[in-house]
Amino acid sequence: MRLRYNYRVYPTPDQQEALARAFGCARVVFNDGLRARQAAWEGGLAYVSDGELSKRVITEAKKTPEREWLGEVSSVVLQQALADLNTAYRNFFNSLSGKRKGRTVGPPRFRSRKANRQTIRFTANARFKVLDNGRLRLPKIGDVVVRWSRALPADPSSVTIVKDATGRYFASFVVATTDAPLPAVEAEVGIDLGLTHFAVLSNGRKVAAPKFLRRAARKLRRLQQDVSRKQRGSNNRKKAVVKVAKAHATVADTRRDWQHKLSTEIIRDNQAVYVEDLCIVGLGRTRLAKSVHDAGWASFIAMLEYKAARAGRTFGKINRFTPTSQTCSRCDRIDGPKPLNVRTWTCPCGAVHDRDINAAINVLAAGRAERLNACGARVRPAPVPAPRREAGIHPNAARSTARTAEGIPTL
Ligand SMILES: [Zn+2]
Repeated sequence: MRLRYNYRVYPTPDQQEALARAFGCARVVFNDGLRARQAAWEGGLAYVSDGELSKRVITEAKKTPEREWLGEVSSVVLQQALADLNTAYRNFFNSLSGKRKGRTVGPPRFRSRKANRQTIRFTANARFKVLDNGRLRLPKIGDVVVRWSRALPADPSSVTIVKDATGRYFASFVVATTDAPLPAVEAEVGIDLGLTHFAVLSNGRKVAAPKFLRRAARKLRRLQQDVSRKQRGSNNRKKAVVKVAKAHATVADTRRDWQHKLSTEIIRDNQAVYVEDLCIVGLGRTRLAKSVHDAGWASFIAMLEYKAARAGRTFGKINRFTPTSQTCSRCDRIDGPKPLNVRTWTCPCGAVHDRDINAAINVLAAGRAERLNACGARVRPAPVPAPRREAGIHPNAARSTARTAEGIPTL
C-alpha cells in the first residue's frame, strides 16, 4: 500500500527563492496546458493528447522568449504539473459519465498566484535524494534541511514540497509500505456519524469532538470576524488574515492527531469496521451538522480505510440507503422519521433505543449483510489510494503521536 509521510522542511532564503520560482513555473505550465485544452475544446478541435500537450507547453514553450525561464526549474516538476492537469480532467470526465462515484467533480480551474497552498512534485526519475547527512537533495533547489520526526520505512517514489498559508514548508513522501497485520480479534463495530457526537459506536461508545477542538473552532470564528471588521487592503487586515491562517493550521493539525489516535484504536480493537457512506449521510443531515463535522468525517473515514487495509481488517461503507436511525435494530420495523430532538424512542416491539447507538447497530448489520453477498463470497475490498495528507503528522505533535502517526502501532 502507498502511504504518505510528511515532514517539516526548512529551506534557506536562497532555496525559498528557488522554490518560489518552481511553484511559479509549475503553475504557469498547468495554466498554459488548461488554456490549450480549453481552446481546443471551444475551437471544436480534436482532443490534444497528453504527449502533444507536454511538447507544446513545455518543450516548445522553452524555446520562446516568453517562456524561456521554464528551463530554470527541473523539467520533472513541469511534467508533474501537467500530470495533475490530466488527472483533474480525467476525474472530471469520469465524474460526468458516472464512472467515478461520489461527489461530482468540476472541470479543472486555473491555479492562482495567491493560492494558500502551493505545491510541486518530484518523482524518482527527478533524482531527488535523501543524503547521508539527512538533507533532502532537490534538483535545481539544493540540499534542504528536514526535521525527521520518524524514519522513512522504504525508498519513496515521489516527494511533494508544500508551502502552506502560514509560510511553512513540508516534504510529503509517497512510500510503498508492506502490510502490518494485527492479531485477529472477535469484535466488529458499526459507526454512526452522529449529530450530537463526532461518532457513535455500535458497542455503545459515544465519541464527542474533543473540547480543545471546539474551543479552537470558536477562536477561529472570532478571528474571521476580526478580518471582516478591518479595512480592505490595510496592513491590519493582512495581519488578521495571517492569524486566521495560523489558527486554521492549528485546528487541522490537532484534529488530525486526534483522529489518528481514535482510528488506530478502533482498528486495533475490531476485526471489521463499517461506516455509512458520506453521500448517504449527507441526505439525512442538517447543514449545521455538516459544517461542524464534514471535513473531519471524510479524513477520519479515509484513515479507518487505509489502516484497516494495512492491518488486514475488514472495512466497509454502507452504500445502500438504509434508514439507520428509523429502523429498530431488534425487530427490523421501520418506525418512521424521528425529529432531531428525539434522542430515545420505544419500538412497538418493546425495545427502547438510544437513537445513535441503534443507528450504529444498524450500520453494523447492513455492513455484515453487504459483505456476505448472495454467494456468501467476500466482497473484494476496493484499492486504497495514497491518502492526500492523512498519514502525516504535525511536527510539533511528533512526540505525542509518533507511535500512532503511522497508523498502526509497531508490534
Ligand atoms: Zn422493534
